[in-house]
Amino acid sequence: MAREIIEAAEALIDQPIPCLDKGFVRLVDYMGGDARIVQSARVSYGEGTKTVREDRGLISYLMRNHHTSPFEQVSLTFHAKMPIFVARQWVRHRTARLNEISGRYSVLQDEFYVPNPTELRKQSSRNKQGRSDERLDATDEKSVIAQLASEQDALYKGYEDLLNKGVARELARINLPVSLYTEWYWQIDLHNLFHFLRLRLDDHAQYEIRVYGEALAKCAKAVAPMAYEAFENHILHSVQFGKDECKALAALLCGETPLLEGRQLAIFEEKLTKLKSV
Ligand SMILES: Cc1cc2nc3c(=O)[nH]c(=O)nc-3n(C[C@H](O)[C@H](O)[C@H](O)COP(=O)(O)OP(=O)(O)OC[C@H]3O[C@@H](n4cnc5c(N)ncnc54)[C@H](O)[C@@H]3O)c2cc1C
Repeated sequence: MAREIIEAAEALIDQPIPCLDKGFVRLVDYMGGDARIVQSARVSYGEGTKTVREDRGLISYLMRNHHTSPFEQVSLTFHAKMPIFVARQWVRHRTARLNEISGRYSVLQDEFYVPNPTELRKQSSRNKQGRSDERLDATDEKSVIAQLASEQDALYKGYEDLLNKGVARELARINLPVSLYTEWYWQIDLHNLFHFLRLRLDDHAQYEIRVYGEALAKCAKAVAPMAYEAFENHILHSVQFGKDECKALAALLCGETPLLEGRQLAIFEEKLTKLKSV
């Protein structure tokens, strides 16, 4: 079979997708697509080309049954630029290959993330790891943005001072903050990209990495639209219930009161809300 050339993916190659105030995701290259997935899944049976409808059905079947290895046959390479605190979350996904800009070798650019005022929210009281929907008042928004910018400015000036004094780049950088932008090449197969997206497109993921998740998802969708459709259907927009929650769901369906309380009930209700919004 000839190398797959996918028009929608070709159109994205080398086109930076803007993320946050100064970042981007750029699809550098890809290998394979939906056809590669079905081709590799069918290799064991030696079956030939089927109709598009049958291919879609097979991909859906593979995704639904967690038969994941055919999705690993598709690979995507990205160039991405993100604040270091986003990179730290991103790099936890170990099943990828990356190469990052070196602050030992290069002088780092004066580029820092400053949140949009609409994203300057108060600490959530329900989720210790996240922000609430409540914005700061307008005066505080302005002063917080000004504070972030002036501290970043001062730290970068300090960095430049150290460089001018001849301090090695690998040491001069050590006071730079996690709002500084970094960049890397990142290569991952489609199965592990879906795993990344399942975690990082979720409402519980931090907004700033979700923005990058959306950009990566756009590329994945262009490279393998049927696989992405199956991922959305069976994984991304699915809701998983534990044993107790299944019992509660069964009770609800029978018009009975679910035997859950406290935090367990709150989580169950959150899942029901998600279920209704699908
Ligand atoms: C909302 C959210 C909050 C988080 N909060 C925190 C936090 O507070 N502190 C923190 O430290 N982390 C936190 N994390 C990171 C999280 O614990 C995972 O490290 C991260 O999501 C990567 O997931 P992963 O290991 O499944 O992915 P990958 O590293 O891409 O791995 C994919 C899969 O490969 C397998 N795998 C990979 N490496 C190994 C291995 N060495 N051994 C066995 N199996 C392996 C596992 O099945 C794994 O699920 C958070 C993540 C999210 C999404």
